[in-house]
Amino acid sequence: MKYTGPDCRQCRREGCKLYLKGERCNSDKCSFNLKKGAPGQHGKGRKKQSGYALQLREKQKTKRIYGLTEKQFELYYRKATEMRGVTGELMLSLLERRLDNVVYRLGLGTSRAMARQIVTHGHITVNGKLVNIPSYLVKVGDVIAVKEAHKESKMWEGIKGQKQLSIVKWLSFDNTALSGEVVALPTREDINDVEIKEHLIVELYSK
Ligand code: SF4
Repeated sequence: MKYTGPDCRQCRREGCKLYLKGERCNSDKCSFNLKKGAPGQHGKGRKKQSGYALQLREKQKTKRIYGLTEKQFELYYRKATEMRGVTGELMLSLLERRLDNVVYRLGLGTSRAMARQIVTHGHITVNGKLVNIPSYLVKVGDVIAVKEAHKESKMWEGIKGQKQLSIVKWLSFDNTALSGEVVALPTREDINDVEIKEHLIVELYSK
């Protein structure tokens, strides 16, 4: 089941910033900086966790970062096991290739939740065709753009013409055309904004 409680509580539970609330996360209003410790009565004096508990927490944290349900998240792991390479890294690469994440990485949404709404509300095209499925997996050469008829919307005012956008290196972005391209598949080194110990997740699922 998907967690529907307050976003900031999730960061405190996981003991790190998960960047779920857009601009607020980088402001002095971020409650992770303001309130120390895990939420709840027993949050501050938590005991040393067992190996299993650590694996579980890492899975929960990663699932929360990408805003997925348990079932959806596990499918990425299963898919990664069928591919050649390091399962944990492949799983993260698959998660990064989700269209909602790409829209977030391009800076069109300030959080993955907002990016998901942008996709489901029909603002995004892939290779010129409308795609409103957040889980759509992009591939090298795909062009992700704001739908032509929606480009003049006020939604993009802060992005158009902005010089300094921090785009990940596996994506290129033209902030005048509001269009980006997948120039490479995301590698493990590209996913460095939040610390993820993917080997713990693989250990958990391989039991
Ligand atoms: Fe809330 Fe964002 Fe700070 Fe997390 S990082 S506590 S979601 S403001």
